[in-house]
Amino acid sequence: MYDIVIIGAGPAGLTAALYALRARKKVLVLEAKSYGGQILNASKVENYPGIESISGFDYATNLYNQVKKLGAEIKYETVVRVEEDKTVITNKDKYKGKAVIIANGAENKRLDIDREEEFVGKGVSYCATCDGNFYKGKIVAVTGGGNTALEDAIYLSGIAEKVYLIHRRDEFRGEDKYVEELKEKKNVEFVLNSNVVSLNGDEKLESIIVKDNEENEKEIKLDCLFIAIGQVPQNQIFSNVVDINDYGYIEAIDDVHTKTSGIYVAGDTRVKVLRQLTTAVGDGSIAATIAIKEMKINKE
Ligand code: NAP
Repeated sequence: MYDIVIIGAGPAGLTAALYALRARKKVLVLEAKSYGGQILNASKVENYPGIESISGFDYATNLYNQVKKLGAEIKYETVVRVEEDKTVITNKDKYKGKAVIIANGAENKRLDIDREEEFVGKGVSYCATCDGNFYKGKIVAVTGGGNTALEDAIYLSGIAEKVYLIHRRDEFRGEDKYVEELKEKKNVEFVLNSNVVSLNGDEKLESIIVKDNEENEKEIKLDCLFIAIGQVPQNQIFSNVVDINDYGYIEAIDDVHTKTSGIYVAGDTRVKVLRQLTTAVGDGSIAATIAIKEMKINKE
């Protein structure tokens, strides 16, 4: 029996583990992929108070090592169900906790166009920092208008010969600082008010068609399209124990409570106004602290 079973080893889950371990609780962290969550792919983090600049990889690895040093048990298993009695069932085993914290983050959003899945790894990528180096001296495009797309375009401009930045509006959701940096780059071309509507090639991606708001289409020949259009949560498996909103996010009461006593939610997977590293670690610390407090109250 664990005190707390945490689902997800991103910043929210690992911070919850940090707080719970420091309170001498027995903690299990379950992660389906790799530790770090989305921040692992951020080339630079420069808005975390007290740290001027750090790569997402270094940040995530520091946090992971900090939690491991405290004795965290981390298992790489995929959660398939959580019972109301706080049993967490994975693809390999089942684990009982006194409390459960759901901190599973969100998945990369797909463009949902023909052949997208077919070309993954063959000219379609969702991670510039993972795959960018394969495109040294080549032509690439990034689609999206948030910080991820902007950072990806900056990163790729230092590797690729040419980077197209395709966004469906003429204003960016991401920070102006990044937009200004991109405007200075000679090998970056903005393709605004446009959507990628088709992917073409035989064995691998060879070109894309973009359509602008006036229905004009143009072909761009390239070697890779990096899709950075945000994330979607994957919460249906928890629908027996939590309420989920129309966009798939978990409804949170007073920040981290769900409708089931002893089951908490933290990070990007919950309904919230700002999905950032700072708010994820805030959630993780609150969820663990409240879980521990309520465990004590229930014992009394
Ligand atoms: P995001 O902020 O949600 O932006 C997604 C972008 O993709 C938006 O510009 C959106 O366009 C566009 N988009 C969405 N669906 C689309 C579709 N079907 N077709 C075409 N375009 C589509 O996502 P994100 O950039 O991944 O960032 C997620 C969060 O992490 C944000 O809070 C961000 O600030 C944060 N982040 C921080 C850092 C950092 O601090 N260093 C780095 C990366 C990310 P519209 O604008 O038109 O809606």
